[in-house]
Amino acid sequence: MMDSTARAASLAPATSIDTAASFAAAIGALPPGMLMGFAIVIGLVVGSFLNVVVHRLPIMLERAWRADAAEAFGHAPTTGELFGNDSAPDGLPARYNLWLPRSACPHCGHVLRVWENIPVASWLALRGRCSQCGSRVSVRYPLIELAGAVCAAGALLAFGPTGKALAAFALCATLIATSAIDLEHQLLPDAITLPLIWAGLLVNLAETFTDLHTAVIGAVAGYLALWCVYWLFKLLRGVEGMGHGDFKLLAALGAWLGWTALPQIVVIAAVTGAVIGLAATLSGRMRFEEPLPFGPYLAAGALVTLFAGTPLYAVFAWGN
Ligand SMILES: [Zn+2]
Repeated sequence: MMDSTARAASLAPATSIDTAASFAAAIGALPPGMLMGFAIVIGLVVGSFLNVVVHRLPIMLERAWRADAAEAFGHAPTTGELFGNDSAPDGLPARYNLWLPRSACPHCGHVLRVWENIPVASWLALRGRCSQCGSRVSVRYPLIELAGAVCAAGALLAFGPTGKALAAFALCATLIATSAIDLEHQLLPDAITLPLIWAGLLVNLAETFTDLHTAVIGAVAGYLALWCVYWLFKLLRGVEGMGHGDFKLLAALGAWLGWTALPQIVVIAAVTGAVIGLAATLSGRMRFEEPLPFGPYLAAGALVTLFAGTPLYAVFAWGN
């Protein structure tokens, strides 16, 4: 006969923690091949969503800035005044966000059918062209989807079927989107970088990638390090070498990976940025004074650190 405690426990409804734990156990019990297939499919689907973010978030931000500016100059327009009843001056519907309207060809407006939304495969099947008007679809779309799949597979290989792998994948996915937006628009949106800081601190409440102490100092030190470089450049040479978005992104990386990761991230970013910037200048693709988007290089430094630790420190420690 069971005692009263066991009886109470058997009658108590399963808590969400129990459910999450048994779900995690069920995932962990899947055969590795199936698990990897699952990760790759999720990576592709998330990559497909990242394409939407990369394309639409800058448009949404520009609309918000225009509305703010109009209001600041004394004319506070209603959505109807600003955008007309159904379409805005940019030719897109007044209701435009990450979910609406459905994805369409920017040239002819052809709404993508379900099969045309299948990551990578549809781009290959259509040979990178719109099925209706034949205009080119950027290779960026399948590349971002593939990057999502590679990051999901990498997170599973590096950390196993754990919450840590999920967190690592979330960080990678966010870095893919920010890098693509920075490359195209020289912009690191606050709408991404600021939540990424809070997310890093929250994730490390459970000491996922580092302890909370190292994470908090990482967030502050990451911001201050680039802030100092920015002001040094501005005072000495009168130029703005980088944007405020870079400070916030490095703050986020410090929050996720800890202050101890910052020197390696900055060295990798500076070296790859300098090499690629020099190559682009020499090949005539870029003018020397043109500012280099720094976000993608910071992201590259963070990915190396996330998956490989800090190998650079071993090089400089002379075997200690
Ligand atoms: Zn088209």
